[in-house]
Amino acid sequence: MMELLEIERLSVDFAGFKAVADFDLTITGGEVVGIVGESGSGKSVSQLAMMGLIPYPGIITASHMRFDGNDLLNIHPKKRRQLVGKDIAMIFQEPMTSLNPCFTVGFQIMEALKTHEGGTRASRRDRTIDLLDQVGIPAPEDRLGNFPHQMSGGMNQRIMIAMAIACNPRLLVADEPTTALDVTIQAQILDLLLDLQRSKNMAMIIITHDMAVVAETVERVVVMYAGQVVEKNAVDPLFDHPRHPYTAALLDALPERSVGLHRLPTIPGVVPGRFDHIKGCIFHPRCRFAQNRCRTESPDLVSHGSRAVRCHFPLDHGAPST
Ligand code: SF4
Ligand code: MG
Repeated sequence: MMELLEIERLSVDFAGFKAVADFDLTITGGEVVGIVGESGSGKSVSQLAMMGLIPYPGIITASHMRFDGNDLLNIHPKKRRQLVGKDIAMIFQEPMTSLNPCFTVGFQIMEALKTHEGGTRASRRDRTIDLLDQVGIPAPEDRLGNFPHQMSGGMNQRIMIAMAIACNPRLLVADEPTTALDVTIQAQILDLLLDLQRSKNMAMIIITHDMAVVAETVERVVVMYAGQVVEKNAVDPLFDHPRHPYTAALLDALPERSVGLHRLPTIPGVVPGRFDHIKGCIFHPRCRFAQNRCRTESPDLVSHGSRAVRCHFPLDHGAPST
């Protein structure tokens, strides 16, 4: 089957700092993939690069990057504008900073439709009402004239989703779609995204720092740390047998895995920043399993079929990860 999205060896460099290094990802139509990692791990940057949204002085290199047969590395800007927003849509982090506070939500959705689909004003208004209905906004006609500050965080996130699906994208990238919301609303938003994904048969990439979000939503997981992919696998084996110490540590921090513990395990230290030059495995300063080799030699991402791990000493199946 032809892949919808194929990214191979993508790197994003900001004046000598590699925000993303050798990132690979392939997605077929209708598939849901999670990219997980702490903030600063390169999750969002990898996807912004795919959409051509990396600001100056970022430099993108890749062996190839294709969406539906289009070469994204050498695409004409006009063609890219047709693709991004229409066939590839993104829900950006933090709805309150992504929606324009000066315009009504109705206007903002109608503008998205105007850019990509044209049509008459009346048809765009009808489509907007239909979209608000699809994302679960009650009495949508009455909401068209609301400004973002007149709506709750959950409602604004629904508006962002309505804008993203307005043109029936084939790939939806949702960047931390629930981070700014409280727990009950988080579950509703994830359900909504999955319902829309299934009914429209869209491919979806969910970017999150939260393993619990991944567990509920995705089929495959890519774990990122400091710009690198450290582990990839289907969601069930990844949760049952994490092979990278970082994946295991993220899973150990899940509340349901820590029942009976006095307090939640955390990962000591922070993701390295642009001025930290770490020799060897980039995770070694935080890794409980680090050995001498880890401090001098950087591990490659080694694949076995559809799973892959970047570690000199991957955890054994069944071996305790705590
Ligand atoms: Fe830990 Fe070494 Fe594996 Fe890096 S290579 S994750 S330091 S065990
Ligand atoms: Mg981010």
